[in-house]
Amino acid sequence: MAASEAVPYAKTGGLADMVSALAIELTKSGHHVTLLMPGYRGRAPSESRQLAMRLSIPMDGKPVDVTVEEENVFVTGALHRLRVLFVRYDPYFDRPGLYQYDHHDYPDNLERFVLFCRAVLETVRGLIETRAEKVDVLHLHDWQAALCAVYLKTLPHEYKGLEELKVLLTLHNVGYQGTFPGHQFVKTGLPPSLFSPSGLEFYGSINCLKGGIIFSDAVSTVSPTYAKEIMTPEYGCGLEGVLANCADGVKGITNGIDVAVWNPESDAYLPAQYSAADLSGKQTCKRALQRELGLPNRDVPLLAVIGRLTFQKGFDLLIDVIPEIMSLDTQIVVLGTGDHHLEQQFIAARARYPDRIGLCLGFDEGMAHRIEAGSDMLIMPSRYEPCGLSQLYSLRYGTVPIVRRTGGLADTVVHFRPSTVKSRCATGFHFIEASTDSLLSALLLSLHVYKERQTWQSLIHAGMITDLSWDRSAKLYVDLYRELQRGRES
Ligand code: ADP
Repeated sequence: MAASEAVPYAKTGGLADMVSALAIELTKSGHHVTLLMPGYRGRAPSESRQLAMRLSIPMDGKPVDVTVEEENVFVTGALHRLRVLFVRYDPYFDRPGLYQYDHHDYPDNLERFVLFCRAVLETVRGLIETRAEKVDVLHLHDWQAALCAVYLKTLPHEYKGLEELKVLLTLHNVGYQGTFPGHQFVKTGLPPSLFSPSGLEFYGSINCLKGGIIFSDAVSTVSPTYAKEIMTPEYGCGLEGVLANCADGVKGITNGIDVAVWNPESDAYLPAQYSAADLSGKQTCKRALQRELGLPNRDVPLLAVIGRLTFQKGFDLLIDVIPEIMSLDTQIVVLGTGDHHLEQQFIAARARYPDRIGLCLGFDEGMAHRIEAGSDMLIMPSRYEPCGLSQLYSLRYGTVPIVRRTGGLADTVVHFRPSTVKSRCATGFHFIEASTDSLLSALLLSLHVYKERQTWQSLIHAGMITDLSWDRSAKLYVDLYRELQRGRES
């Protein structure tokens, strides 16, 4: 697997959780997984990290020396370890942020991920040639790894020995395509003929994700609804035509979560633990969260927001309804970082309602856990959401999600309606339009149901007992890997 993020090493969003959790689940079920990612600045490397290979990567005609470091991670319940290989080239990766600093993308992101992708392929070849290992499938994640497929399929003379390797590309968010000005194409080292509409060219720019989609053997995404949505102009972000040409379509496999890390019964970030059978610890978490974010300890509905503050996430809709929500007896806690403008709006809202709104601008893993545990409801008004993880954590932590009916949100939250309440499977609230009115109606309904304690308990309970583990989804990925292999053999 090649990806630009994986917990606990580097994370800006759900990609990091998904990559690690899938790798761990596959390892547990007996598969030998090697995860390749850039060796960023950050956590001190573990003592067991060792030099695995030295590579020479052609960049802009000149060779660049890259090292690959290896860490073998113990996985509970597995017979062997998960191998993580870090592509280390400090001028590119030893930086304060992963892709940007101070809200600005690094100007050399194309070169950084060209180097990463070429190093991935060289490493795979090294494993086959020097360690006599067998590599069945290369599973790529998002645009940062997508160019691996392009190099592999278009420069076979440079990657001898890898001709048989099958490639799966998983799209975690079609909104992030890795686009760069066309004049930079020379930096990829790819033949100029590939800078064309049937290759990586996209309205005059280079589009790494497009290249990955065209040259991978199979393409998947992280929920069935998003797989359908991205075939339409509304959600395909311009790639709907390219996606429509994928020979076997785009398969949607819903993400699971790491149920060992996200477990309210053992979560060390929480001031108290709890379970579906005994929710008393959740009350303790709520009071502690109110104190931590400077809110009075009151028994009122506590609404939460966690996520990147971007247009995609629809938090601007929430900003618009805050005065209405504040006219009711509620509190809101917000954890996020992102668009400067949205951050300023949340700061202004907090200043206006200091004892009703708690705000944490920044990235804080522990705080995310404490908010999931201490809140009553989580709001996700996303304009689009490939899968979404925060709502899954909410379900597990007994926090009722209120979500826009799109992508993975539609697939994972069971909408409150008479039939689902009767069958005790409702787990949250959907709204359809990406509008303030639609969001407000769902919020008002949820606040009304909150008062019906028995119904509310049933929502909490149904969410907490939902199977969110990776077990089922990892099996679907294995089926996909096997299909690819069969394709190779036939
Ligand atoms: P996306 O990948 O689009 O950002 P997801 O819902 O799939 O959205 O995943 C978001 C992940 O990032 C979740 O694990 C969530 O807890 C975490 N997260 C988002 N923002 C923050 C933050 N400011 N601090 C801590 N964790 C965050």
